[in-house]
Amino acid sequence: MKAVAVKPSDKSFGVIDVPEPSLSSPTQVRLHMIDVGICGTDKEIVAFEYGEPPAGSDYLIIGHESLGEVVAVGPAVQRFKVGDLAIPSVRRPCGKPRCVPCAVGRQDFCFTGEFTERGIKQAHGYMTEYVVEEERWITLVPARLRDIAVLVEPLTIAEKAMKQLWQIQQRLPWIEYGPGRAQGHNALVLGAGPVGILGAMKLMLSGFPTYLYSKLSGMPEKKDLIESIGVKFIDSDSVSIDQLIADIGEVDVIYEAVGASGLAFEMLEHLDSNGVFIFTGVPGRKGPIEFHADIVMREMVLRNQIVFGTVNADIGAFADAINDIELCMSRWPDAVRGLITKRYSIEDAGVPLSGKGPPAIKNVISIH
Ligand code: BGC
Repeated sequence: MKAVAVKPSDKSFGVIDVPEPSLSSPTQVRLHMIDVGICGTDKEIVAFEYGEPPAGSDYLIIGHESLGEVVAVGPAVQRFKVGDLAIPSVRRPCGKPRCVPCAVGRQDFCFTGEFTERGIKQAHGYMTEYVVEEERWITLVPARLRDIAVLVEPLTIAEKAMKQLWQIQQRLPWIEYGPGRAQGHNALVLGAGPVGILGAMKLMLSGFPTYLYSKLSGMPEKKDLIESIGVKFIDSDSVSIDQLIADIGEVDVIYEAVGASGLAFEMLEHLDSNGVFIFTGVPGRKGPIEFHADIVMREMVLRNQIVFGTVNADIGAFADAINDIELCMSRWPDAVRGLITKRYSIEDAGVPLSGKGPPAIKNVISIH
């Protein structure tokens, strides 16, 4: 079968022919892949800045944002039947006895760092025709979400982040927390990529008046898409951070989805009392930056602020993301569909992966 893979030993990537996987335990499910999204992580992997093949393999099949159709189930599989749509999660447990998170299925909090990630770290991914996975790592998707369900994995980032936000803000005795009941006065998203826009949708569903501060990066139509979900867009090419804060005031929740440390640390100075700053971006290693460390440290203490980073997502976040993407589709169907800019065939995957092709929010490889 065809698969998009990288071979770090000779720095090559492209479509290769690999053996089809078959069921090897009674609790496994075989999927025919339908859609596989491309994100920044995939682009880093094909640029050989990140990613690692499985032990004993000289190549890594990439792809971790996915949607597949069940084509076979092992005799002990309980929740899936042939024809169902399904999404496998990304991270697998490290298996070390001392890692409690992995032992209880919360490998998104693995502390040994020895987890594997399908399509990223020591496990083959989903940009291929067939995939086999254990039932416990797969979530069922309603057939009506087929066109947009590939957005579920990037939405899981926001689901995990928001769950932690509510857990943290339970420290405030007057906050009534929970979906649709946010009491904070505003939220600000940094970055208008898929993670940023999906994060903004989740913040809107949670009841926050939400702002999004970003460049438009050659896609002026993004502004209308973002504003159609009720989020106020502010263009960082024409509005300075000081002007932004003068307009919207200090911010209760900042959701960083841009991976640029300079902007992020400057924004940190504008977090409100009791506010929470959430990092989701992974910056490349550039040079040192300057920021007002004394002010930030002082404010964090004197104003009870919290900064946290979040990566990956547990299987519960996939179920939450499927519920929420359905809610988003009922409120903003055009905006949700508009997140998928272009679909490419597996043969043409190299175009979006190497950053060629027109500017995009989310590019998707469709597999037939
Ligand atoms: C994926 C996560 C993964 C992270 C780090 C992201 O692109 O969505 O599942 O944990 O990369 O490898």
